[in-house]
Amino acid sequence: MAATSPIYIILLGAPGAGKGTQARLLAEKLSIPQVASGDLFRENLGNNTPLGLLAKGYIDRGELVPDDVTIRMVQERLHRSDAVRGAILDGFPRTIAQAEALARVLAQADRRIACVPYIRVSEKSLLARLSGRWICPICQTTYHVLYSPPKVSGICDKDGSILYQRPDDTEETARNRLQVYFQQTAPLIEYYRGKGLLVEVDGEQSIEAVQGALDDVVAQHVARLAL
Ligand code: ADP
Ligand code: AMP
Repeated sequence: MAATSPIYIILLGAPGAGKGTQARLLAEKLSIPQVASGDLFRENLGNNTPLGLLAKGYIDRGELVPDDVTIRMVQERLHRSDAVRGAILDGFPRTIAQAEALARVLAQADRRIACVPYIRVSEKSLLARLSGRWICPICQTTYHVLYSPPKVSGICDKDGSILYQRPDDTEETARNRLQVYFQQTAPLIEYYRGKGLLVEVDGEQSIEAVQGALDDVVAQHVARLAL
């Protein structure tokens, strides 16, 4: 998949749709970083930075962190040297204001979004995925107790760390996050469809099948970037 232009791919989908799982695989394949706004907030939280402390209340309640701080954080991340060839955006943008800010940042650098795969998953599956999700605190690899279990229960396959469940994956907070998604983020589906960038991917399939579908979509759109 050779392309000279930087590649920006936005993975769109509800919490639990599989964005992080697929972003990691795509990032590895394309040798560009996964930029996950939720991971950036959790990193700040873990380091007790002012940004982390500000974000904590919103994350605990399952609400969105205000646009201005979120945009600044992602913009700063995209300007780091490892993102010079592009990025897989996971969890950002989540509002129309964020999408417009991203468009301005990319336009200023004469860069374009390659495509916006929308990973479509039913609400019932989303809740089942969130409630069974376990994460490695060190390498952030995501497991599922039923759908993608580690080889040894509770232990990361890659680095042997003890896996944890996110506090905002409890049923009550997860339901709130889904509501927030339907109100504030789902409008981005039509926003990007209107720009001719949206490609729907059936997210109910196995992780491997979703990966295969995404690889095909991305290959087509990356080839177009080079034209
Ligand atoms: P998101 O980043 O969109 O919130 P994740 O990638 O963290 O979602 O996936 C949520 C949970 O669902 C994780 O436990 C993950 O292992 C599992 N998962 C991801 N994709 C699939 C899939 N296609 N089928 C079944 N489970 C999946
Ligand atoms: P995620 O890891 O993507 O599920 O995000 C976890 C939490 O971080 C969300 O519930 C929000 O509180 C916050 N967050 C992550 N990304 C964004 C974003 N783009 N805009 C606002 N808040 C966000």
